[in-house]
Amino acid sequence: MNQVLYGKKIVDSIIEGVSADIERLQKAQIFPGLVTVQVGEDPAAEAFLVSQMNSAKKLGINSRVISLPESASQSMVADTIQKLNQDPEVHGIMLHVPLPEHLNSQALQWMIDRRKDVEGVTPYNLGRLLIGKPVLVPCTALSVVELIKSTGVRLRGKEATMIGRSDIVGKPVSLMLTKLDCTVTLCHQGTSEAEKLEEHVRRADILVVSVGRPNFVTGNWVKPGAIVIDVGINYVNNKMAGDVEFETAVKKAGFITPVPGGVGGVTVAYLWKNLIDAVDMQIDREE
Ligand code: NAP
Repeated sequence: MNQVLYGKKIVDSIIEGVSADIERLQKAQIFPGLVTVQVGEDPAAEAFLVSQMNSAKKLGINSRVISLPESASQSMVADTIQKLNQDPEVHGIMLHVPLPEHLNSQALQWMIDRRKDVEGVTPYNLGRLLIGKPVLVPCTALSVVELIKSTGVRLRGKEATMIGRSDIVGKPVSLMLTKLDCTVTLCHQGTSEAEKLEEHVRRADILVVSVGRPNFVTGNWVKPGAIVIDVGINYVNNKMAGDVEFETAVKKAGFITPVPGGVGGVTVAYLWKNLIDAVDMQIDREE
């Protein structure tokens, strides 16, 4: 087996659908618009934002960044979001996190109109996911689950271990895999402190790693034949690397995503798909 799970095929198929939707909307004089609000400078995010803008341009999506100074107050960022909520030409709003420490990120994220919440981070959208009636779902979680499904492996009853419990990856993926009848284990720093991480990884038929530390999981922990999804984005000697030691893990895994070339591209494609869903909701004023 040992199959490298590239995201390209999934990206192409999502983008094909998104392009058709954009054509449909443009015929009705609707031009999908996305705004990313950034506070202060984040050199690590620059490359991502540029590639997001280029991808948007190719598709005919109006994507722009509002850059606020590092010293921006809570009310200044809040006012910006409120204005975007009311702007009919803006269909999607992203708040770039982490924000400077003096700002309350969660309060600001929660202000985003749920129909414009293309990252799926508002309580409404996360709550809908929890009860199994998803609307706008975090793009990375969609990407992870689609990559797992693309293996064609029957998921019912499989042991799925997630490392990392963020609101945009670990938690939503665990809900989605639970819905797909996997038996889910969600690991975090407490799991490591209790020295239980290795045992949870060793029995995982499906392993999703979203920690943000290069080579955090080595191949000798990976169960032979497992599906390994590496979400991590790290830079080692200016080179992008995931959280899994690819060279060793690829020899054990049945399927493994590379970094780059795996989760990241599919995540961006889902951002555009979420934007189209958001536009359609705003047209329909869907509740
Ligand atoms: P995050 O908010 O950065 O949090 C990291 C998670 O890892 C936390 O839940 C933390 O546990 C856990 N963790 C840290 N050290 C650990 C340890 N020693 N043992 C077990 N768990 C540990 O998570 P994130 O936002 O999901 O981001 C994680 C990585 O994924 C980053 O590299 C990020 O850049 C990348 N990412 C990639 C994409 C993509 O599209 N490819 C999208 C999003 C994020 P605690 O909760 O206990 O602190």
